[in-house]
Amino acid sequence: ALEIRLASRPDGYPTEENFTVAEANVRPPADGEVLVRNLYMSVDPYMRGRMNDVKSYVPPFQIGQVLDGGAVGEVVATGSPEFQVGDTVLHGQGWREYATVAADHVVQVDPDVAPISAYLGVLGMPGITAYAGLLRVGEFKEGDVVFVSGAAGAVGAIVGQVARLRGASKVIGSAGSAEKVKHLVEDLGFDAAFNYKDEGPVIKHLAELAPEGIDLYFDNVGGEHLEAAITLLRPFGHVVLCGAISQYNDKSATGPKNLAAAIGKRLTLRGMLANDHGDLRDEFVREVGGWIAAGELRYTETVVEGGVAKAPSAFVGMLRGENTGKMLVKLG
Ligand code: NDP
Repeated sequence: ALEIRLASRPDGYPTEENFTVAEANVRPPADGEVLVRNLYMSVDPYMRGRMNDVKSYVPPFQIGQVLDGGAVGEVVATGSPEFQVGDTVLHGQGWREYATVAADHVVQVDPDVAPISAYLGVLGMPGITAYAGLLRVGEFKEGDVVFVSGAAGAVGAIVGQVARLRGASKVIGSAGSAEKVKHLVEDLGFDAAFNYKDEGPVIKHLAELAPEGIDLYFDNVGGEHLEAAITLLRPFGHVVLCGAISQYNDKSATGPKNLAAAIGKRLTLRGMLANDHGDLRDEFVREVGGWIAAGELRYTETVVEGGVAKAPSAFVGMLRGENTGKMLVKLG
């Protein structure tokens, strides 16, 4: 069976040369393990950080070793009484066709409740990041003017829609193409959006759409976006530091240069990690699942077909903005 290994550490933007597609043995499950045939795997921005040789909240990937990350698949052999052959499960050993996983690292998911790919996106880690980030970390209040960057991506698209459904007075998004901007306004119900690649600085676009200022900025991007938001935040506004993707592939990236403005405005800037918010899971699934069922919240996926060998190009493409909504690779 095939798996993807890290061939070398990327310098700046990764390329497909940083990866190798290798043949691996499939190990049958021992007691307490299951063998899963992966059906979908996720490519996520945080994986870029793990390709650097630096200590972070997750350890770095090792050169020559298989990568990992979220995947859903079907149990094909089991050494655990808790799982049957045929069960659909979520686990952390993506980037390979077959995974032998400890049963206590596997979660059963219900394919009748949602398409199984949704457990890697809207109903999975990106969804809970959006929900917990906006409502808990960002202390969202009804009537807030909310700005979210990376708005057409997996996390950002959910942030903007939850804000709208929870009663934001205005939801503004930024994304990297005219089609994405149109999608935000026409399909997802954002009040306004701009293409940050259009001419002019981010602050000019944002100030035009939010002349009254903003109350909550959900930051997926960092750098110039964060700097613009700090300038336009109202006193006592909140910033959710969720991601800084503009800096992941650019070692020379700097900013924000205007952090001192946060002092006088008494802003709250808070970093977050999805893993801290598992206790919100039931509430999140009830509320967001309800909105999806009622047709009030939409989610988009960009699914790359062609099996695990396509994972490197899907990952590189995601970092370059080729996805709308959650970027996934379909296996099998
Ligand atoms: P997305 O689905 O949003 O995909 C990444 C997107 O980033 C691309 O589609 C691209 O869209 C955008 N992008 C790439 N380069 C730049 C740039 N230089 N400036 C602005 N936008 C850029 O990914 P996710 O929704 O999974 O993740 C979004 C952010 O949230 C990331 O920063 C990620 O690290 C973070 N995150 C943090 C978590 C946490 O626990 N703290 C958990 C999950 C995600 P475009 O076309 O608009 O440029």
